[in-house]
Amino acid sequence: MSDKIENLLASLLRVKPRTKLRKTKSEMTNTGGEDVPAFSETDIQPEKVEMTTVQHPDGRMSQYPPTDKWDDWVEWDGKLWPQKVARRYTLVPTACFNCESACGLLAYVDKTTFEIKKFEGNPVHPGSRGRNCAKGPATHNQVYDPERILYPLKRVGERGEGKWERITWEQALTEIADKMRASRKKRQDGIMYHVGRPGEDGYTNRVISAWGVDGHNSHTNICSSGARIGYYLWAGFDRPSPDHANARTILLISSHLETGHYFNPHAQRIIEAKMNGAKIITLDPRLSNTASMSDVWLPTWPGSEAWLLLAIAKYMIDNNLYDRPFVERWVNWQESLQHADEMTANADLLDRIKSAGDSASFDLFHELMQDIYADFTFARSAEESQVPIERIEEAAEYVAQSKGQLASHTWRSASIGNEGGWQIARALYFLNVLTGSVGTKGGTAGNSWNKFVPKPFKTPPAFNAWNELHLPLEWPLAHYEMSFLLPHLLKENRGDVDVYFTRVYNPMWINPDGFMWLEALQDEEKIKCHVALTPTWNESAWFADYVLPMGHAGERHDIMSQETHAGQWIAFRQPVRRVALERAGKPVKFTYEANPGEVWEENEWWIELSAKMDPDGSMGIRQWFESPYRPGQIITVDEYYQWIFENSVPGLPEIAEKEGLTPLEYMRKYGVFEVIEENYQPYENPVADGKVADDGYVYKDNKLAGVAVNGEAKAGFNTPSKKLEFYSPTMAQWGWTEKEYIVPYPLQSHVHPDNIDINKGEMLLLPNFRLPTLIHTRSANAKWLYEISHKNPVWMNPIDAKRIGVRTGNLVRVETEIGYFVDKVWITEGIKPGVIAMSHHLGRWRLQDDIGLSRGASNVVDLVDKGEGHYQLNVLKGATAWESTDPDTSRIWWEEVGVHQNLTHGVHPDPISGAHCWLQKAHNVRKATADEKYGEVWVDTNRSMEVYYEWLAKTRPATQNSPDGMRRPYWLKRPLKPVPDAYKVPTDANVRKPTSEPEGTD
Ligand code: SF4
Repeated sequence: MSDKIENLLASLLRVKPRTKLRKTKSEMTNTGGEDVPAFSETDIQPEKVEMTTVQHPDGRMSQYPPTDKWDDWVEWDGKLWPQKVARRYTLVPTACFNCESACGLLAYVDKTTFEIKKFEGNPVHPGSRGRNCAKGPATHNQVYDPERILYPLKRVGERGEGKWERITWEQALTEIADKMRASRKKRQDGIMYHVGRPGEDGYTNRVISAWGVDGHNSHTNICSSGARIGYYLWAGFDRPSPDHANARTILLISSHLETGHYFNPHAQRIIEAKMNGAKIITLDPRLSNTASMSDVWLPTWPGSEAWLLLAIAKYMIDNNLYDRPFVERWVNWQESLQHADEMTANADLLDRIKSAGDSASFDLFHELMQDIYADFTFARSAEESQVPIERIEEAAEYVAQSKGQLASHTWRSASIGNEGGWQIARALYFLNVLTGSVGTKGGTAGNSWNKFVPKPFKTPPAFNAWNELHLPLEWPLAHYEMSFLLPHLLKENRGDVDVYFTRVYNPMWINPDGFMWLEALQDEEKIKCHVALTPTWNESAWFADYVLPMGHAGERHDIMSQETHAGQWIAFRQPVRRVALERAGKPVKFTYEANPGEVWEENEWWIELSAKMDPDGSMGIRQWFESPYRPGQIITVDEYYQWIFENSVPGLPEIAEKEGLTPLEYMRKYGVFEVIEENYQPYENPVADGKVADDGYVYKDNKLAGVAVNGEAKAGFNTPSKKLEFYSPTMAQWGWTEKEYIVPYPLQSHVHPDNIDINKGEMLLLPNFRLPTLIHTRSANAKWLYEISHKNPVWMNPIDAKRIGVRTGNLVRVETEIGYFVDKVWITEGIKPGVIAMSHHLGRWRLQDDIGLSRGASNVVDLVDKGEGHYQLNVLKGATAWESTDPDTSRIWWEEVGVHQNLTHGVHPDPISGAHCWLQKAHNVRKATADEKYGEVWVDTNRSMEVYYEWLAKTRPATQNSPDGMRRPYWLKRPLKPVPDAYKVPTDANVRKPTSEPEGTD
């Protein structure tokens, strides 16, 4: 169709002529963040080639350009159809950064303008197999977001005043390196790297180790530490890796299929299994899309899950339906019998165990299990969980029939929601143990078996330091740092921070008790310098001293591997414009030269910063950043990965050579490498050259390397006993000696029905489910995603709605223990009576209309410090359409962008796992009055500290409970472990006694 006719038609139809879309350029451009991209046209016609076809087990088929054409690919521009306009691309693989799954992406980079046309799936990626969720392709929105940060910024006004100046990278490097050098010379706990989305495996940890500081802080305690410690106590791995595709039964405690951890890679395999006849069981008080796809939906009262799981365990034990040979072979049942008196008061059984001594038989352990779980009848489980008994029986049958093929998963959900949530993960994995589904085909493995992390060229030694702000003595068993308590610990005068890096992390918005974070971030005595490394504006970056723009998925280097299935792979995230430029013979020194504006990447930033911190090498830092190929010279990012791919990835050099490529060229071409196709039951692997000693363990080179099983040297598990630990000696040794801590057992949640009186207007607020199209705090810069999901109403059952007298769309006021918020209500039978639920990723805000978060995704708010620790947030304006270089911003049709509920959540640090227990007791839920407005939030931070002290009082500190004078068990995980010496409890340690008046509070 000619442009003339098209224009005529367009004017008759009153739409914009299509030719306006045809933005064409014949030279290189770089418009990310400033304009919509322009693409070149080519006279070359698309070839007829055989496409790479992926036939999915559910019958669908996807096609991709064949890999030998990726360097030079021509296709019609589908957006201009029916016009036939050919575009010429170089296709560059990278890895998605919009959740933790690291799915493969393929960027279509224009060969002339070097603009990115789209991101599609990478068919050769073994985890994602060509497929993505909506968030993968939305990477394109993030690159061309008109409100992205393009240059390094330094604040010029007061912190939080919103006044910034553009600076050079050189200035940022110099000023920040100076502060770090000064700090490091004084102390080893003054620099803190607080990471939200890591999106890489080990790079930054190596950097922090090189600085010699205890500097790693993570978001894990608001995410997954509850589940992690539950798994770790069993087997010495802290994440499950279910082999969904081959499962007979899939048991999920979460909305896993729709938003789970390893979302797209797992979802596609769960559906594969379902197509092959697997049964899906889902525990969730909310009728999620996952629950609706399940064979059995068990809408448990939050916190009661362990009751239900252990009733299934009892059913299998009582009826001899469990895999007895497996349990006898791999569970520490002999050790459990030695401690039977800690688990039962049954005198007869104890007598018989005692008289049997070392020759006690497995039958006695069977009896012990029967005794421990005697109360866990289906009837009692139905009562506790408020689920019909028939549904529990049905689920029990499916689990019992799984025969070594039970794929199970819990990650956030109940494990992070409840006090004692870690025992829910432990009870869940008990079913894997009983069914013999541990690392089997169709079973559930450990993450470390299905994840491959290659070693870099030189590893700095462990540091000798301990930052009390990361792991205070009160939580000796916390799995990862007590990160969300940082403001509370600072307010107690437990320390301060010289240089605080937040990295893809928005602590004030994502953590509970955000106004405590507001106070901390404003306090220049406690947080002396705040550097926000972020691809997008966020609420916390507003209170930074430096805001440094870092790249999205197609703008940075990283290596990632995830346990998506029973194999191992590594993916190579790449800055796609840089790679395309280099393919075209245009050299790039630093990635910010190729990215939009001066957006950089952390890899190069950390190298340059660390080198500047120690320019003459006298601090011992520079040596870790010198090239292994050019002695004395600072390493390049190419050299860093070149060394890893040449030396640390088994099989890669050989495969690359077959194609006439170097290992680095291979990874740049394909973006991924499959290290092991299948990896089942590695604990059964023999220990080569291992010696079985008299103590029953296997040693190699004088180090513990395995365990003897029937006289054979086996690798075993990563626990002190090298077995699966039903009885946990660690729990008992560290002062948690009661039965409910040492074996899989339910703990009473803080939101148990006994604690919630519905007749008084109290309810349970479930605030921790996520919508499948949201990217934590980076969604706001992805317009396609925000158009799909932008509101987080309060889900409420019709029974409760009738009691309260509200209808869908009415405003409700939800009162928590520290404040309240006002939101609209959505009446649905998809939530359990007595429970209200609210998605946790919405309610973004900005303080200034014209700068900060996207105008289509955030409220303009008035943040009022009312004095005496009281804060209020009032919404002045919702989302609006606005004119920008992107025509889509003028098409914003929605106003509501949700309510920031996390501000009103008190902190609930679990006394064992340290996880923030997200579920909240809503003290009152009622219809809002006329003067209570949508989005309004009010909080009393004095109450925040009281709640913190209430939870602090539940702990059993290392000072009173450490069996060996150490701060925590050395075998438990830390992202960066110091030397054992640093674990010693200081002799002058003085653990704070809870009071209602924190030190330093007026
Ligand atoms: S599942 Fe995660 S990694 Fe995969 S495409 Fe979606 S957001 Fe990206």
